[in-house]
Amino acid sequence: MSRPIIYTDECSGCGTRVDACPESVLELVGDVADVVNEDSCIACGTCLEECQMGAITEIEED
Ligand code: SF4
Repeated sequence: MSRPIIYTDECSGCGTRVDACPESVLELVGDVADVVNEDSCIACGTCLEECQMGAITEIEED
């Protein structure tokens, strides 16, 4: 299973991937996106495709 990791230094706070996430895993916290509901991630990859800043990746976990 994979989970999202956000590079907050790279995030512009545009909210695109927050809105695109079908499982409400991400939220804008202050001026940047953050992972707030990690257990709901279905590893669909939508946030990676939508982020224009390349500010998110996924890591594999058991
Ligand atoms: S991989 Fe899919 S479910 Fe997981 S945070 Fe990204 S958009 Fe949401």
